[in-house]
Amino acid sequence: MAHPEKNLAIETLAVHSGRKTDTQSGAVTPSIHLSTTFERDADGGYSKGYEYIRNDNPNRVALEASLTALERGDWAVAFASGTAAISALFHAASRKGVIVSSKSAYHGTLKQLGELAARSGNGVRLVDTTSADEVARALADDVALLFVETPGNPMMGISDIRTLAAMAKKHGAAIACDNTFATPVLQNPLALGADLVVHSSTKYLGGHGDLMGGMVVGHDIGTWFDDLRTVRTTGGAVPSPFDCWLLLRSLPTLPLRVRTQSASALLVANFCRSHAQIETVLYPGLDTHAGHAIAADQMRGFGGMLSIQLRNGREAAMTVAAKVDLFTRATSLGGIESLIEHRASVEGPGTATPDNLLRLSIGLEHPDDLIADLVQALGAL
Ligand code: PLP
Repeated sequence: MAHPEKNLAIETLAVHSGRKTDTQSGAVTPSIHLSTTFERDADGGYSKGYEYIRNDNPNRVALEASLTALERGDWAVAFASGTAAISALFHAASRKGVIVSSKSAYHGTLKQLGELAARSGNGVRLVDTTSADEVARALADDVALLFVETPGNPMMGISDIRTLAAMAKKHGAAIACDNTFATPVLQNPLALGADLVVHSSTKYLGGHGDLMGGMVVGHDIGTWFDDLRTVRTTGGAVPSPFDCWLLLRSLPTLPLRVRTQSASALLVANFCRSHAQIETVLYPGLDTHAGHAIAADQMRGFGGMLSIQLRNGREAAMTVAAKVDLFTRATSLGGIESLIEHRASVEGPGTATPDNLLRLSIGLEHPDDLIADLVQALGAL
């Protein structure tokens, strides 16, 4: 099919982008290309576009085309993990200037920024990006990149992408948004003014807990595309052909999965809000959440992730995690099965995550069954 992609809905793009019938065999389903090397033309060129697997691979190129379409960008660069994608972005940015970042974000991202700060002196500024005033104080003409994670992991803070993008632009800084929690189904940072979008595709994009990947998608601004590809090729953090194939295979169901998970998470959040043993529910879909109005404006649904804080501290949180049956006690998120996690103990000493917090990743089980499971687990307190 031809792809007048900008006009197609995400459901259609999720099925068709990056996929076309194989012209040689007629195969409708994409094949996996395992070859590490590609034949050179007699004149020394590579007219088919492929040279060596670390540079490019047909499954990776197809996946990048799909993510470019889903995020409504101009290009995408796929990496071996979300961490590798973020590392490449920070590497490219730190050559251009200072990085200003959300201080409430995935703890691995904060670790990377901590290491970068230790190496580069004052090259990193951590701020609360849910406060435009704080960001304004950190932005200056030496800033190359404003990095925002919204919703933030695991405190579920909401940053106003449109406002922050306008502020970054005034200083000539690029703005990148980690869109792992929302996915392009619920939030399009590029349409809101961001220049770059980051994903851990290990999470919702993959969606089945069986692959690892990362992605940066961007608009055609500056040298970011070339810089990211250079960091990837020299650093070597490329995803395998099989992981790319598996990820492309998972994308057609992304809209169905994410919308169902988001609807169920809202029901679970509303249940949790009324439970006597739960002190706080962190979910942007609740009108009590500080970022609710901004989330309602910039998202199309509030996502499948929520955090709860128990009234009786760490012990209560551990008891609930121990008593659940349907929820699995495990790290990660965005898969078909619901997960529950005591984040503070995973993040380790020095974390800012409260000890009474459990993070819930809502899967595709029926929400009534998930709520019943929480009822029985909370009943043990
Ligand atoms: N960004 C967010 C928001 C995450 O939650 C994670 C992992 O949990 C990452 C990035 C890192 O991704 P990966 O585990 O694929 O390296």
